[in-house]
Amino acid sequence: MKLHFLGAAREVGRSGILLDAGKRILLDYGVKLGGRTEYPMPFQGFLDAYVLSHAHLDHSGFAPSIYESANVPCFSTYPTLALSSLLIQDSLKIAKLREGHAPFAPFLLRKFEHAFIPLGYRKPFPLARDITLTLADAGHIPGSAVTEIYAEHKRLVYTGDFKLEETRLHRGADFAEKADILLIESTYSQRDHPPRKELERRLKEEIRETLELGGNVLFPAFAVGRSQELLILMPELAPGAEVFIDGMSRTATQIVADYPSYVKDANALRKGMKNAEWVETEAQRKKALSKPGIIISSAGMLEGGPALSYLLRLNERSKIILTGYQIESTNARRLLEKKQIEVDGITTDIKTPVEYLDMSAHAGRSDLIEFVKRANPEKIFCIHGDECEKFAEELCGMGFEAYAPAIGKMFEV
Ligand SMILES: [Zn+2]
Ligand SMILES: [Zn+2]
Repeated sequence: MKLHFLGAAREVGRSGILLDAGKRILLDYGVKLGGRTEYPMPFQGFLDAYVLSHAHLDHSGFAPSIYESANVPCFSTYPTLALSSLLIQDSLKIAKLREGHAPFAPFLLRKFEHAFIPLGYRKPFPLARDITLTLADAGHIPGSAVTEIYAEHKRLVYTGDFKLEETRLHRGADFAEKADILLIESTYSQRDHPPRKELERRLKEEIRETLELGGNVLFPAFAVGRSQELLILMPELAPGAEVFIDGMSRTATQIVADYPSYVKDANALRKGMKNAEWVETEAQRKKALSKPGIIISSAGMLEGGPALSYLLRLNERSKIILTGYQIESTNARRLLEKKQIEVDGITTDIKTPVEYLDMSAHAGRSDLIEFVKRANPEKIFCIHGDECEKFAEELCGMGFEAYAPAIGKMFEV
């Protein structure tokens, strides 16, 4: 087998790995968002299959470009197709606004959608006579998958993004098998996240305090995953409080609700959805801000969406609670570090208090090591992290053969 690392090599973003095992299989093909969008390396030659681990743009965002010259089957789960289409469509709009043009012709998104072949979890699919593809629940966002490819009598496992710990939305990654070759995300290789239960207790307290003061709690939330988790939590953490959901968080929630078997407790999601008011008009936004209540809205990194317009109109008794990953040079990062945001080149100071609760959808250090120990692979490639080299070195110290490939590197395994 040959591996070619086209992105997410010693960085978070633009995931892309080309596997040649007799058939040429591309694992993810995403973009790196931030100040300026970056793309994975191009690859030469044809593809036999494309496997998409989950909907996040750093894994899916550049996938339509593959369809410029070929029709490659795209294997993924049902929710991943629907959610990635939503996110890619939105990213095209943003790219046109910011850069004046889209990174690929919009009709390629339709070609990508038509190439889709749905796979359920734990349903092995024969890619060729002696190559099998299996997806397993990664516990990261709805539809997210750990990819297993069995070829040349070896089991290659690509974790994509995953989480072992159970949350209100997911049971945690369902993968504990032996692997020969492991490609593991390393986003949080250097620290652990606080336990979810503890974070939920703190969240409850923050919400109670803010509502008692007469303020609004604003959750700038990722449309996929975090918005649904917060919706599920609200009836329990803030019973009786008014909850509003706005922006792409709404559309993504509807899609997730269409595939109930991909969340832990579909009834809890339905209850959370019923508990919230679905904001579609400016009048509803004004209403949401007019009295104490909870607002869940995209965009999670405050780079646009209704979350940004709410933020600028909050009263000083309110609170902004960030719960996810903040990419460098985004408004979420600026807000947390400097209490400022930047819109159309204009910097504004923000007086509303900001809180960060580390409700990550990724495995922390202990869980990454736990996953490695369970898989007990012959070779490990640490990818999708800012400290891949350090993590690989640490794994070598534990007796594993581990690498942190640089972008463009090829390996024979
Ligand atoms: Zn992800
Ligand atoms: Zn990712």
